[in-house]
Amino acid sequence: KVKANGRNGFEFFSSDMREHAQARMQLLKDLRSAIELKQFELYYQPIVSLNDLSIHKAEGLIRWQHPEKGLISPIHFIQLAEETRHINALGQFVFCEALQTVKEILGTRSNFQISINVSPVQLSSSDSGIDDWHDMLSAADIPASAIVAEITEGLMVNPGALTQKRLKALVKSGMQLALDDFGTGYSSLAYLQEMDTDYLKIDKRFVDNIKANSQELALCEAIIVMAHQLGLKVIAEGIETTEQMKLLLAAGCDFGQGYLFSKPLSKQNFMNLVSQKTVVLANE
Ligand code: C2E
Ligand code: MG
Ligand code: MG
Ligand code: MG
Repeated sequence: KVKANGRNGFEFFSSDMREHAQARMQLLKDLRSAIELKQFELYYQPIVSLNDLSIHKAEGLIRWQHPEKGLISPIHFIQLAEETRHINALGQFVFCEALQTVKEILGTRSNFQISINVSPVQLSSSDSGIDDWHDMLSAADIPASAIVAEITEGLMVNPGALTQKRLKALVKSGMQLALDDFGTGYSSLAYLQEMDTDYLKIDKRFVDNIKANSQELALCEAIIVMAHQLGLKVIAEGIETTEQMKLLLAAGCDFGQGYLFSKPLSKQNFMNLVSQKTVVLANE
């Protein structure tokens, strides 16, 4: 931003950069202490079957409970956590929480899955702890298929050797894979099969613009047909209206996730909802 009283654009640019660097340093300091003080919480957003609104799954979404700033969204800290590799500690927290929660749910009903977002940094770091997941699943005595790893398209384009080895090991151990934010990157269809992906998540930006006879709807229909032919189930992200839900259902989409069904919930609120088995649609 150029300030109105500015004469020298370069000076203001560099002072912006300084402010940016200071904000980043502060955030990093806060992030380090937040990890030490365990200020993170895993929220859960239900994923429902579009034909009967039953809750089959949920996505675990991390939140930072900041003592002064309140609940902080991951969009404000995931990137920095990735750049500084703190994502590895956060990722272990997320895995442990999801494991504990799905174990509790599987004590009361069968066939529930919780998906977690796995960063490419976790997959490529030798010390991320991912290699312990198999043993942790066995120790928890739940099927590995109860946990789904959500990975993004970017990862599929040019995965390193360690990443590929890890993904294959996770799949071999029985964990399932979902390709998150589908449509925003450049992944090739071949990777979907090579990586043995189970779910494809259509990105919210397509869902947002879905209308009868729209190009976005045609695109979603094509993605769904293709995914089904490859043996993948499809989850549409960011469904906010009944119209979007109906069009996606008619297009053959299997599952939906979005504010229409439920916002991400604290564990307590989520467990209450899961015990009801279906969601009630939000008023539009
Ligand atoms: P994502 O994995 O694509 O998660 C979906 C995001 O869309 C979530 O945002 C969710 O709250 C939001 N969302 C779902 N339905 C709706 C809707 O109907 N309307 C609107 N406006 N938004 C909706 P959130 O929780 O802020 O997370 C943002 C992103 O941060 C995630 O996108 C994911 O990429 C990343 N993230 C979240 N938790 C973790 C984590 O534990 N580890 C890593 N590595 N990344 C995470
Ligand atoms: Mg996700
Ligand atoms: Mg599989
Ligand atoms: Mg997504």
